[in-house]
Amino acid sequence: MMAGREIFSVPVVFADRFFMSEKSLAEISALGGYAWADAKDHLDLANRLSGSTSVRVLVSEYVPINAVVLERAAGLRGVVAYGAGYDHIDVNLADRRGILVCNCRGENAQAVAEMTFGLLLCLMRKIHLSDRYVREDGWKRTDSAALPEWVMGGELRGKTLGIIGLGQIGSRVARIARGFDMKILGYDPFAQTEDLAWVENTPLEKILSQADIITLHVPLTSSTEKMINARTLATMKPEALLINTSRGRVIDEPILLEALKEKWIGGAALDVFAKEPISGDHPFTKLGNVVLSPHIGAMTQEAGERLSDAVARQVRDILQGRKPECLINTYQIK
Ligand code: NAD
Repeated sequence: MMAGREIFSVPVVFADRFFMSEKSLAEISALGGYAWADAKDHLDLANRLSGSTSVRVLVSEYVPINAVVLERAAGLRGVVAYGAGYDHIDVNLADRRGILVCNCRGENAQAVAEMTFGLLLCLMRKIHLSDRYVREDGWKRTDSAALPEWVMGGELRGKTLGIIGLGQIGSRVARIARGFDMKILGYDPFAQTEDLAWVENTPLEKILSQADIITLHVPLTSSTEKMINARTLATMKPEALLINTSRGRVIDEPILLEALKEKWIGGAALDVFAKEPISGDHPFTKLGNVVLSPHIGAMTQEAGERLSDAVARQVRDILQGRKPECLINTYQIK
C-alpha cells in the first residue's frame, strides 16, 4: 500500500476505516490491490480521486458517496456500503451513471438485534445507573430497601413490543422477543413476513399507542426521516420506551429531548444520532432515562468477519463483471 495520491492507482479504495479481515484483504489484493483513503469527508475523498482512472470500486461506511465524489471517480464501476445502511450513497445518481451500488445486508443483523435487547434491558433494569451507583461508592447497605427508588425496573415478559421495520434486523428482533414471551406488533408496509406469523401486523398509529416498547429498524429514507416526531411521540404511552439502532434522523431529536425531559415517554436508548459523534456534554447525557452508545450496534467480532467476507465477495463480483449479491434496487433513498 502507498500513501497520498498514489494510493488511487489501485482498483479498490476503502473510503474510511473499518474492520477488514486479513483473509478478505488478501482476496482483494489478489484482484489488483486496495488502498485505505482514510478520507476526512466527501470533499477530501473527491479531491484525491481527481485524475485517477484506476479506481473501480469504492467501499464506504460513512463517507458520503455523493455527486461530488461520483463526478471525480472516472472509471468507477461500483460502490459497496460497508454495512446495511446506504443513506450516505447517492443511489439515484449512481444508477444514472451505470454504477452498481450494493450493501452487506443481513451480515450485521444479528449483532444489531442482540444489541437492541442489550439497550432495552439496560434501560428497563437501570443497569447504566446501577453501574455508576456502585462505582461512585453509593452502595453502603445490603438491605434492598436501602437502595434508591429508581433501581426498581420492569420485566419484558407480557410487555408489548412494537417493531417498526421488519427486515433483516427487525425480524431477528421479533424472534428474540418471542423468547422473552412478549406480545409483538410489527409495522412494515414492504416486508415479506410470512415466516413471522406470530407478529401482529399493525398500523403505525396503533403500534405507537399500544406498545410498551418501540424499536426502530427502518432505513433512512424520505418516508422514515423524522417518523418519530412531536405527533408520534405524543401518541405513545407515558411509560413507553423507545429504542433506536437504525439512523438518528429517523427521530426528530430536539423533540425527543423535550419528550424525555417532560416525561411524555418513559425513556430512550439510542445507538445512533442525527449528527455523529455526539459530545460528552450533549443534552441526552444529562438524562437518567436515556441509555447511549456510540453507534456500536454492528460491532461484534462475528459481524465484522461476515461484513468483511461480504465486501470481498461484492468487490470480486463487480470487478469480474458479475451482478453482486446485494445489489440495491428495491427502494429509493433520499
Ligand atoms: P432491511 O432493509 O433488511 O430492513 C429494513 C426494513 O424497513 C425493510 O423491511 C423495509 O421494508 C422497512 N421499511 C422501509 N421503509 C419503511 C417505512 N416507511 N415504514 C416501515 N418499514 C419500512 O435493513 P436492516 O438490515 O434490517 O437494517 C435496517 C437499518 O438499520 C439500516 O438501514 C441501517 O440504517 C440500520 N443499521 C444500523 C446499525 C448500527 O450499527 N446501529 C447496523 C446495521 C444497520
